[in-house]
Amino acid sequence: MMIATDTPSNEALNQPTDAVLEAHELYRFFHTSTEETMALRGVSLTINRGEFVAIVGPSGCGKSTLLHCLCGIDVPDGGYVAVEGIRLSRRTEIERGKLRAQLIGVLLQSGNLFDHLDVADNIRAVQALGSSRAPLSPEQLLASVGIADRLHARPSTLSGGEAARASLAVSLANDPPILLADEPTGEVDEATERVLIDLLTERTTSGKAVVVVTHSDRVASAAHRVIRIADGKVVDA
Ligand code: ADP
Ligand code: MG
Repeated sequence: MMIATDTPSNEALNQPTDAVLEAHELYRFFHTSTEETMALRGVSLTINRGEFVAIVGPSGCGKSTLLHCLCGIDVPDGGYVAVEGIRLSRRTEIERGKLRAQLIGVLLQSGNLFDHLDVADNIRAVQALGSSRAPLSPEQLLASVGIADRLHARPSTLSGGEAARASLAVSLANDPPILLADEPTGEVDEATERVLIDLLTERTTSGKAVVVVTHSDRVASAAHRVIRIADGKVVDA
């Protein structure tokens, strides 16, 4: 049986709107030899310019899977994601990687920094993949997150708070219209969390969008909108 997937062409999507990211009916299933997990069961959402959105929900409800599908690291089994009117889903990994470098800042729970490069070179590596014509320098980016003095530090020598700030600087290296972050304050002290919240909030005042998966009430209360996920579905947008 043929099923219409209802994916608009790029031309049809490519209209200027308030929306910077749209996810339409995302499904994601994981199979092991004994069981099937339905991690996402038809998640649709729209993120607008200038919005700070928190995604919350119990452990295992599908938040990380959703974030990975939104940024194109993972591919949904059904539905699609479009960023700036450009369809991200159902493309090759190389195409998705290019679009991600140009359009999306990604901050994962771990593994944001290459250990064999110093912080400055981590920033340059991301900028080499992006297309920003006038990127901020590594010096400027690190100053903006308050660790200008760690320019030439290797990631393994950073404290937890410094690593969180450096990871944020890397994710913003190409000044993306949207930042997607998975528990960016999960491992940091309250003072660092405050700084990160302020930096994220500040971005939205210039029209950039921020989406944060979080367990923190402080982060959720700083957000303009909270999307609640339970059992792979949006329960309360
Ligand atoms: P959350 O981030 O909300 O804690 P996840 O998105 O990580 O939840 O996981 C949602 C569900 O999908 C969980 O049941 C988890 O065990 C399962 N899952 C996630 N990734 C995989 C994977 N790669 N293989 C098998 N199951 C997975
Ligand atoms: Mg998670």
